[in-house]
Amino acid sequence: MDYRLLDGKKVSNETKEKIAKEAKRLTDDYGVRPGLAVVLVGNDPASQLYVNMKEKACKKANFYSKLIQLDERTSQDDVIDVIEDLNKNDNIHGILLQLPLPNGMNEKFVNSKISPEKDVDGFHAINAGNLFLGDKGFIPCTPKGILRLIKYYDIEIEGKDVVVIGRSNIVGKPAGLLLLNENATVTICHSKTRNISEYTKKADILISAVGRPHLIKKDMVKLGAIVVDAGTSKVDGKLYGDVDFENVKNNASWITPVPGGVGPMTIAMLLENTLEAYKKKWK
Ligand code: NAP
Repeated sequence: MDYRLLDGKKVSNETKEKIAKEAKRLTDDYGVRPGLAVVLVGNDPASQLYVNMKEKACKKANFYSKLIQLDERTSQDDVIDVIEDLNKNDNIHGILLQLPLPNGMNEKFVNSKISPEKDVDGFHAINAGNLFLGDKGFIPCTPKGILRLIKYYDIEIEGKDVVVIGRSNIVGKPAGLLLLNENATVTICHSKTRNISEYTKKADILISAVGRPHLIKKDMVKLGAIVVDAGTSKVDGKLYGDVDFENVKNNASWITPVPGGVGPMTIAMLLENTLEAYKKKWK
């Protein structure tokens, strides 16, 4: 079967260009740039890499970006003090707490201290609740990016059978809710799901967010399915998705590559959420 690529890199670049233009125009109007603060605790190399990517993206988008790098021995109370200062800072419109936090810290509790108006990751209970209710709020960047990518290519969602693999609060669960809110029929699978391929084989749209290289094989995918791979794992320095792309592509009508699929969309959605937070404050 001929497959087409869900080209996250292209869609992300187009989105980021639009955001950069709008940010410039709004800065000229209001005299303040959209600002994103990233709080990084400890020196996890992967987190450092993500933070650098976010800073670079901010710069390109004409945003102000502030990195607060804290020692891994910083106490939870001190991290919360930093967040509370950022909540009050008029130059900061979005706050991102880079996860994971060092052992011993309660991520949910620390995250709950970010003002919901600046919670551009969409992890705060207020924003998660709004998504649950189908109301407006910040949507976590990766699932938002998945939905944007599907919509960009005019793929119909209503009435489709969607299977999401993974039920984390940052990818799987919100992805399921978003597609349910788009009138898909959604099944969410996880590590305790029995006979997972019985579900995946019925999916019109299959979204994998697990982090296991090549978990999804060709015989698990229906002919003509739309396959979205959010998973990323590194093995011997090489990046793998959850989907065995080279074989699965022959069953798919649309498929995301890894890299170049969901990853770039996540960054674009982070900028978009920050711009949204800025506009709410200044407009
Ligand atoms: P996570 O919190 O570790 O969640 C993984 C989920 O996968 C869990 O719900 C787990 O089930 C499920 N799972 C584990 N093994 C499974 C199996 N064999 N079969 C079915 N389900 C299984 O991870 P996450 O934060 O959601 O991230 C998921 C993946 O997306 C990772 O590879 C991560 O690197 C990637 N990611 C990518 C981006 C991006 O921008 N591209 C952003 C965020 C995350 P249980 O709940 O039962 O444990």
